[in-house]
Formats: sequence, C-alpha cells, structure tokens
Amino acid sequence: MISKRMKDMVGASSAIRAMFEEGKKLSAIYGKENVYDFSLGNPSVPAPEKVNKAFKEVLENTDDITLHGYMNNSGFESVRQSIALNLNKRFDTNFSFKNIVMTVGAAGGLNVILRAIINPDDEVILIAPFFGEYLNYVANAYGKSVIVPANPPTFQPDLDTLERAISKKTKAVIFNSPNNPTGVVYDENTLKKMGEILKKKSKENNQAIYLIADEPYRELVYDNVEVPYATKYYENTIVGYSYSKSLSLPGERIGYLVIPDEAEDFENLISACNVATRILGFVNAPSLQQLAIEKCLDTTTDISVYDKNRELLYSKLTEYGFECTKPQGAFYLFVKCPIDEKQFVEKAKEHRLLLVGGKSFACEGYVRLAYCVSYDTIVKSLPEFEKLAIETIKGKSNK
Ligand code: PLP
Repeated sequence: MISKRMKDMVGASSAIRAMFEEGKKLSAIYGKENVYDFSLGNPSVPAPEKVNKAFKEVLENTDDITLHGYMNNSGFESVRQSIALNLNKRFDTNFSFKNIVMTVGAAGGLNVILRAIINPDDEVILIAPFFGEYLNYVANAYGKSVIVPANPPTFQPDLDTLERAISKKTKAVIFNSPNNPTGVVYDENTLKKMGEILKKKSKENNQAIYLIADEPYRELVYDNVEVPYATKYYENTIVGYSYSKSLSLPGERIGYLVIPDEAEDFENLISACNVATRILGFVNAPSLQQLAIEKCLDTTTDISVYDKNRELLYSKLTEYGFECTKPQGAFYLFVKCPIDEKQFVEKAKEHRLLLVGGKSFACEGYVRLAYCVSYDTIVKSLPEFEKLAIETIKGKSNK
C-alpha cells in the first residue's frame, strides 16, 4: 500500500489529471483541432537550432569518459564557470563556479535548496498566486508552507502581510518572477522592500531567512521589461534558474542554483546542496545537457511567437469584457472569473476551452490560460471566448 503522504499528494494531483482526461474525451468527440487546450505550460516554440547543433557537437567532440562519467555533484566546473561569467556580464554580479550548482531543472533546484535549509516544521512563505508544486516541494523537505497573497491587479506581493507572516520558524520565502500564473514581473521597488523586511526579520530572529528567486521565465519578457537580478537587493538570496522555458528544453531537465558568497553559511550551504543533489537521487545534473547549454548561454527561443499570442489574446479577451492584467513575461494570462471559479471552468469546457482554475495556484476566483499554443489555436478559440463572455459576464447578454 502506498504511504499516507503519497496518497494525499496523488489526491491533490487529481485536478490536472481530470483536465487531461477531459481534453482526451473532448478531442474524441469534437476532434483534437476543435479543442482549445490552454492548460499546460509546455513551450510551443521549438528549441533554437543552435541548441540542437550544440548537442551534436558535444556528442562528436567530447570523450566518452568525460561525457558519460560521474562528476562533482555540483556539475562540471567549466560549465559552472561559463555560467557565472555570463551572469556577471549580464547583471554586473561577481560570481564564479563556486557559486553555481547545476540542477535537474528548476524543480530539482528548488528541492535541493529546500532540502539543504529546512528543518522539520520550519516555515516557508509562498507568495500567491504561485506554481502549485511549491507546496509539494516544501512538504518533501518536511517544511510547512505559509501563504501570503499578492495584490491584484498588479499582483505585486502584499509586503505588510508578508512582514506579519514571518515568524521565528520562517526559514525561507519563495517568489517567482516573471510569474506563473500571472505573467507579472516583480519590480525593483518590491525587491528592495522585500530585502529590507527580510534583513530586519533575520536580525530579530537571529537566523537568516533565505529569499529564493525561482526564475525559469527570466528570459521570457515583453516590451523590454527589466527583471531585476534578485541577489543585488538582499544578501541571503538564492536564485533558481532553468532552461526549460528559455531554450524550450523542459524534457531535458537542466538548470542551476546561484548561491552568492554573501549568503549566510555559504560553505555549508554549498556542501549541503551537493549532498542534497546526491541523496535526492539526482547525483548530478545530466552531463550532455550541461555541456550543450554551455554553448548556448546567450541564446533564447523566439519569444516573438509568445508575444504575438499574448497581444491577440489579451486584446480580445479584454474587448469581450474579461478582466485581466497584461502579462509582462512568461506565457500565461490570469483572468478574473466573472462567476464562481468552478462553474466558470465547467462553462469554458462546454465551449471546448480548457483552463486551469486559480485554486491550483492558491488564488481562487481566477483562471490561468497558458498561451504557449499555436497562433491558429488562439484565433479559432476567440469566438468561443466571446460566447463565454456573453454567457457569464453580468449585463453582457443584454448588450
Ligand atoms: N517554477 C515555475 C514557476 C514553473 O512554472 C515551473 C514549470 O512550469 C517550474 C518551476 C519547474 O520547471 P522545470 O521544468 O525547470 O523543473
């Protein structure tokens, strides 16, 4: 029999599974091309040609022992140094290979850092809405999640509530910008203030509260919006990065953690991340992927494709009367439900529109649309969104 803990987690995954099953059912009835699936954050832009070339070059030019062998749990020193220098060039930081731990995507990195710092029952503050898996990652490390809301419509964190939520047991705060599910980028002012609060509270508590910046969407930003580099605003900041979205490589499982020299207990933190990487069963991030991404550090996928989708979907949905904040990054639109969230998701299904309820992101009363789909899918879905607006937005049907 499976464990009680797993049983609960399996139960909690049922919403996503149900959506998947629903999609299959609707596709069988109406044809796959007539079902508009906005439920999954799987990049729709192929990996850049340079990435595929890099993989081939590594295979052709690296000796088998280096390519296929075990290595330091943190990853290849040369790859980590290249990443550190690339960050220094872009963000005026001062990292070296010592500050970089290669990870199995952002998910691997978050699990590693949480395992490294959390004692049983330590609290981890999550700023809602957030990527729902955080709850599982915190539970994996035997921590307790504490949820703090962001303020709509800007969805910048509510800093007063954040400050009040910090207790003696708070060990970390996780934030994600550009944000899944809102697409919002946390501005410099927010990061500065968050840093000030954490500095003050760490001092009061006599132990560091780590700020974990989860940044898989850093490169996916529009209209030249700047994503401030979080380590500049608070010394105990750890950055989790991933190539899943920026290079469209979610299946390849590659990313890294940045742990600055200034972070409290730096040496032990690095050692703990190495051991966590090993004992969580990753051992090290995949070697082929490490060597390939080293050749593509200044490359990103063609974000103009997502931008075009964003512009169309945002302009049409607001024209139909839906309320949403224009995303600055990532590939999600977070739309306010004009009626009860569950009923709205069901009504959308009647129009063959698959949307994820805000409850999955700890923010009820909204739905998330992942617009990493083809432009054609969006164009074809618009008449259905218009009908959905007429049926659900008060007063709309009388106009
Ligand atoms: N963090 C956020 C905010 C995400 O949206 C995702 C995936 O969608 C992840 C982490 C996990 O990413 P990865 O595929 O790099 O593990």
